[in-house]
Amino acid sequence: MIDPIEALGPATVLIVDDDAASAAEVAEALRALGHEPMFANGWMEAVRAFDERVDLVLMDAVMPEVDGFKLTRMLRDSARSYTPILFLTALGDAAAKEQGMLAGADDFLTKPPDPVELRVRLTAMLRIRRLTQYLESERSSYERLAHVDELTGLPNRRRYDERMHSELALARRSGRPVTLLLVDIDHFKDVNDSLGHQVGDEVLGFMGELLDASTRRGDWPFRFGGEEFAIIARNTTAKQASVLGERIRGAFEARSGETAAGLRTCSVGIASFEPADTPEALFARADARLYAAKQAGRNRVVWEDE
Ligand code: GH3
Ligand code: MG
Ligand code: MG
Repeated sequence: MIDPIEALGPATVLIVDDDAASAAEVAEALRALGHEPMFANGWMEAVRAFDERVDLVLMDAVMPEVDGFKLTRMLRDSARSYTPILFLTALGDAAAKEQGMLAGADDFLTKPPDPVELRVRLTAMLRIRRLTQYLESERSSYERLAHVDELTGLPNRRRYDERMHSELALARRSGRPVTLLLVDIDHFKDVNDSLGHQVGDEVLGFMGELLDASTRRGDWPFRFGGEEFAIIARNTTAKQASVLGERIRGAFEARSGETAAGLRTCSVGIASFEPADTPEALFARADARLYAAKQAGRNRVVWEDE
């Protein structure tokens, strides 16, 4: 957990005000506190300037065309992360405050702001901003952990399930082919047994890099689990996928000797989507062909039934 009080540094503050003199005055006060002001003299400029860099918005309530209340709604609707909005207004009455609060404002200051008051409110708002940013970045790293295989850096089984689901839906709608390739390292257990788990991990990492480098846009490689990998190839027939599978098989055989495990091989089973397929049915067909490749002596690609 961060300490929001310690973490406060210079902030970027967007001043939205149609009155240049009043904006300049506030900017001066911000600079004196070590912050960096940005300016927008109306709603269009505000929408354009409002991005992730902005830590806080100082919003004028009364402006022509779109007032501060409406603009606050617009900014809130478009924002991906939470940026505090502090109203700076000559309107001191309770009704205006309530209206601003409902529109998404976080706090209010009367114009011209008292320097101490400005500093206190700004500090409180920026603490909220820092905490929010921290929580957002924690969330994205947890999301990454949940979807990325740590050893190879490839998306994991969970991502595979999601992608398979959406690609099958797309294939059903578009009538375009989608093909699943399953890649399994041959006699991988021997690597672990004779050379140790660490060398096994190195081989898995090598396969991950190879798949990543062999696939282009529209192909998605995954570590499916253990020493099994999968590729979902959009707009690709089984026959076309067999060319990709053969390229992977050949490259793994040619280059696996670069790892401490020495020369290794892999087998590939391929199946294309058919309209009645569930993800499980498609997987079962690819897996049956992978098994056939193993039975036929390994180090080969099977993409059609005998
Ligand atoms: P086959 O040619 O029939 O595929 O034989 P195989 O030995 O490759 O297949 P099997 O499925 O019997 O063995 C897979 C092995 O993969 C067993 C397991 O210990 C190992 N394994 C699974 N996950 C990992 C991992 O993350 N790291 C390492 N080093 N080994 C793993
Ligand atoms: Mg294997
Ligand atoms: Mg296996």
